Amino acid sequence: MDFFDSFDIDYIVILGFTYLFVAATVAKLGSLREVGGKKTLMYSLLFTPAYGLYYVFHSPAKDTLKIVHYRCPECGLEHTDGHAHCPNCKKGGKRVRLKKFYMRTY
Ligand SMILES: [Zn+2]
Repeated sequence: MDFFDSFDIDYIVILGFTYLFVAATVAKLGSLREVGGKKTLMYSLLFTPAYGLYYVFHSPAKDTLKIVHYRCPECGLEHTDGHAHCPNCKKGGKRVRLKKFYMRTY
């Protein structure tokens, strides 16, 4: 009949899902890079996945290692294994909770 009848709505839906799927795939690649997945997903949705992919490949690979440390707020000693309370302060009779923090090494 007219233009709108020949306009296939299913085609648009499939195209939309494909767009989201490609953007999600690019974002997954981005999560392995320094740029991160969330930022890549945002770029992919806003400026097409092709731009997101370009962005990912120009981002350095994430080769940092996260190390968990536990620091005592009382004596300042650092521990690499997870004690609930500081062993150093325990000797003095004090029960001090250790604070967990992350360190990045290259
Ligand atoms: Zn301590």
